[in-house]
Amino acid sequence: MSFAIATTLDQALAAIADGARPIAGGSDLVVGARHGKAPLPESLVAIDRIAELAEIKAGGDVTRIGAVVNHARLMTDPTVVGNYTALADAAALVGSPATRNVGTLGGNIMNGSPAMDTGAPLVVMGAQVELQSTGGTRTLSIAHLWDAPGSNTAAAGELCTAVLLPPPGDRCGSAYVRLEYRRAMEIAVVGAAAAVVLDEAGAIVNARVALAAVAPTIIEVDGIEDLVAGRALDDDGRAAVADAASSQASPISDMRASDAYRRHTVGVMARRALDAAVRRALGEEIAVPVNRALGIGAA
Ligand SMILES: Cc1cc2nc3c(=O)[nH]c(=O)nc-3n(C[C@H](O)[C@H](O)[C@H](O)COP(=O)(O)OP(=O)(O)OC[C@H]3O[C@@H](n4cnc5c(N)ncnc54)[C@H](O)[C@@H]3O)c2cc1C
Repeated sequence: MSFAIATTLDQALAAIADGARPIAGGSDLVVGARHGKAPLPESLVAIDRIAELAEIKAGGDVTRIGAVVNHARLMTDPTVVGNYTALADAAALVGSPATRNVGTLGGNIMNGSPAMDTGAPLVVMGAQVELQSTGGTRTLSIAHLWDAPGSNTAAAGELCTAVLLPPPGDRCGSAYVRLEYRRAMEIAVVGAAAAVVLDEAGAIVNARVALAAVAPTIIEVDGIEDLVAGRALDDDGRAAVADAASSQASPISDMRASDAYRRHTVGVMARRALDAAVRRALGEEIAVPVNRALGIGAA
């Protein structure tokens, strides 16, 4: 087995072109190998010491979050907390302090678990993923990054270098909530993210909802805008969004929850995420993460 530590992007891309697998925090790759999920690859290249992959750059027409930014930073960074709050909510729920300190944004999305916490927030905020190889750079909509549980559509030799987010606008709000049975070291039983834009009167101009752990990949709920746009969020809108989320989910049953329970609770989570996103867009301070601030999930 070979293990190299890259300190520049070029070193990492050359190693990956030669067949090495990138490793950032190792909290999926190494922990998975220890649990017998898959053996460690023959060749690994560590990317967590590449300075340019650890930057968060705001300003201009895009906010760029480097792939090795960890969850601990995402949950406290003022740019993320202030403008992309659902992503901070999600990062704050990941694992434990230790997991959040080693686990990275790039590792979370490239690992491709349908229960990942950062995926649904990134979908509702219209994120793009930057992929680089020795052959060049391309970006794709994050919704096109996943094709099956634990799988992504990056080509061999491509490294995720950053997540790109549109600049924040006025009267925007977002939130991510998840159902969990305990407060730490838990993955989402189901999760939901919402992002909204309001007009000056508080009516919804734009709304998106995405779901975690209820389909083979993160999914966006179709038709949300038709259900809630043009008026302030009311009980009919909340109920319609919950119904749409439940009916578009295709969950499995496993040791953690039945499909019927997941289908019902993801509707509840979608409604709560939308509610919190609207309240934030109206200027209300709801601390990160929403789960703890509003007492959702484990007590
Ligand atoms: C105890 C524990 C609790 C956890 N709790 C949660 C939780 O609550 N929510 C949650 O979502 N996750 C959770 N996780 C999973 C994990 O911590 C996260 O998914 C984390 O973000 C993975 O990041 P990493 O840097 O450690 O990834 P790694 O393990 O380094 O890599 C994961 C995969 O992505 C690939 N990869 C990594 N970086 C890149 C890149 N830049 N470009 C291309 N491919 C790349 C690797 O080759 C590997 O296949 C938990 C894990 C543990 C061990």
